Amino acid sequence: MSPTDILMTAPMMPIATEALDKAFTIHRLWEQPDQEAYLREVGPRIRGVATSTLYGRTDAKLLDHLPNAEIISSVGVGYDNVDAAEAARRGIVVTNTPGVLDDEVADLTIGLLLATLRKIPQADRYLREGRWPEAPFPLSATLRNRKVGIVGLGRIGKAIARRLSGFDVSLAYHGRTQQDDVAFTYYPTAVGLAEACDVLIVITPGGASTRHLINAEVLRALGPNGVLINVARGSVVDEQALIEALKSGTILSAGLDVYEDEPQVPQELIDLEHVVLLPHIASASVHTRNAMGKLAADNLIAWFQGKGPLTPVPETPYSGRVT
Ligand code: NDP
Repeated sequence: MSPTDILMTAPMMPIATEALDKAFTIHRLWEQPDQEAYLREVGPRIRGVATSTLYGRTDAKLLDHLPNAEIISSVGVGYDNVDAAEAARRGIVVTNTPGVLDDEVADLTIGLLLATLRKIPQADRYLREGRWPEAPFPLSATLRNRKVGIVGLGRIGKAIARRLSGFDVSLAYHGRTQQDDVAFTYYPTAVGLAEACDVLIVITPGGASTRHLINAEVLRALGPNGVLINVARGSVVDEQALIEALKSGTILSAGLDVYEDEPQVPQELIDLEHVVLLPHIASASVHTRNAMGKLAADNLIAWFQGKGPLTPVPETPYSGRVT
């Protein structure tokens, strides 16, 4: 029997490609000069897709080329790069890589929070520019006495909260539902949480349900001493409203890992000296990207061994698990 054909839409970590190359015939879409023609040729043979946020969207347009696809394995816990509702309609299982990146993303979030409050990148630039002999670096804001609100207290939100509990700050959270086993104060709206806090850490999924959850009203509620940290998805924050809030002093500062139109970052943000900007790196260590790539590969391998998917997303639950 010939090996199963898998479409890989974007490069993956070597640990994942090596495992997939051993188990399947891999078709590397990004290497093709004419992707449409290539999809017309190999599309009907494809039974699985390996993808990631590096490749635009896996949606109806792509799936139309893949009438025999059974599974889409996406690298990353956020899977707004896959139209999971459309996949569900077609009976295609979607998997993501939850859990294996929680600690890495939480570590980076704490780093970004401290970098933003204490202006660590700005201080580094100050020293390199030879300005220290002229005058000491200006005093910064502080994490002391702050109340931190977590928007999205899921796996990663809880890992962030665990770390913050060592920092002597008070914690609160917002999500669509109050969690019985969580002691932090719950706020049923993002505005309510912002009013009660002076740091907001955003770590929800992206997609339609969270689009512009953080808007001008939330930023006004956060207030002039307020700091916004976004490690979720760019779409969750109204970027234009954020730029205006930062320019007008409606909030104090922001630390961002994600943007509405990546990898494009508005020049207006880049021009703001009191903002810390990272190029979507929260999970981007070799260790954690290997773990994510391995889990994505393992999902495909398990599926085609008849063992079912390891980590299906809620839109495509798997009930026919083989024992
Ligand atoms: P989880 O599913 O464990 O947690 C998501 C949380 O968001 C839940 O607490 C959920 O609570 C809340 N939430 C979902 N929808 C809404 C909504 N409409 N309004 C308010 N709260 C909402 O996910 P993870 O913690 O594993 O990951 C969270 C997200 O972090 C990912 O989806 C991704 O977007 C982002 N991420 C970013 C990375 C980066 O590189 N910057 C790396 C990894 C993840 P409830 O259901 O009660 O609303």
